Amino acid sequence: MKAYLGIDIGGTNIKAALVSSEGAVVDFRSMPWSGRAAVDAVDVVSTLTQNLTSANEGHEIVACGVGSAGLVDTAAGVVRLSPNLPEWRDVELQRMVAEALGLPTSIENDANAAAYGEFVAGAARGATNAVVLTLGTGIGGGLILEGKLYRGGGFAGEIGHMTVDLDGDPCPCGSAGCLERLANAEAVVRNVHRLVEGGQKSVLVTTGATTVLTAKEVGEAAAAGDAVATEALEETGRALGAGLANLVLILDPDVIVIGGGVAAAGEPLMAPARDEMARRCYCSRAALPPVVPAELGSTAGVVGAALLARDELPSA
Ligand SMILES: [Zn+2]
Repeated sequence: MKAYLGIDIGGTNIKAALVSSEGAVVDFRSMPWSGRAAVDAVDVVSTLTQNLTSANEGHEIVACGVGSAGLVDTAAGVVRLSPNLPEWRDVELQRMVAEALGLPTSIENDANAAAYGEFVAGAARGATNAVVLTLGTGIGGGLILEGKLYRGGGFAGEIGHMTVDLDGDPCPCGSAGCLERLANAEAVVRNVHRLVEGGQKSVLVTTGATTVLTAKEVGEAAAAGDAVATEALEETGRALGAGLANLVLILDPDVIVIGGGVAAAGEPLMAPARDEMARRCYCSRAALPPVVPAELGSTAGVVGAALLARDELPSA
């Protein structure tokens, strides 16, 4: 049976999946890696591919799609640079993977690949125009416009780095007040600490606690009724909603899909985001796009990368 290989290279893990022609995950594997030299990443990709091939002998892999963190020049097949992969500079990743695996290969930014996965096989199925955001340590974004992944001049969809606070905190990207600074996992935790320092009580922060708080714990505390956790997520949601309003006013998408670890907090984050979005959009609330959770979870990137290989490589 014909199948596609989808790879997702992040700063600490590499994921690989065998994906059917219809976009279903046949088999999924993940391995930690050093996050250092690209040749090491390609070695891990080769190992994962061998594992997938030997465990699924009835499937013939016809092409490979790779999603990678960083600024990815898809046309040239080169990863220009990546904050999560500091040793990478102008890495010819497409050629390296194609030679190692002996397969037609395409490469794409990881957030764009995840957006394409949600578009073809997830929560944005059937949409013509969609925005997909992944909220985690950073904020990844991808745009589907007129039924296609929109790349602009090559690096479109850097939604996490749109300015939502003119006088906001500096961002590693070099700007300041980026959406990512106000709505990533770190922002959720920072909001909790600020509220507690202001005198509010929370189950999340006790005197002398040494453990580092995570956004996941804040989400769980909010679900259990903790007022500080709820307020921290509400503030994060409002910042997210301001960013969503900008996107709606510019793009008027059919749907906005939100995934990633922070989004797992659910309605305590999403409801204030929708309200803030509505407040800042002068179109009527009925005309606003639905803001929905992502469906593919941690496989969005590998599915999207595989399907981009299916749809964009002439030989696949
Ligand atoms: Zn930024």
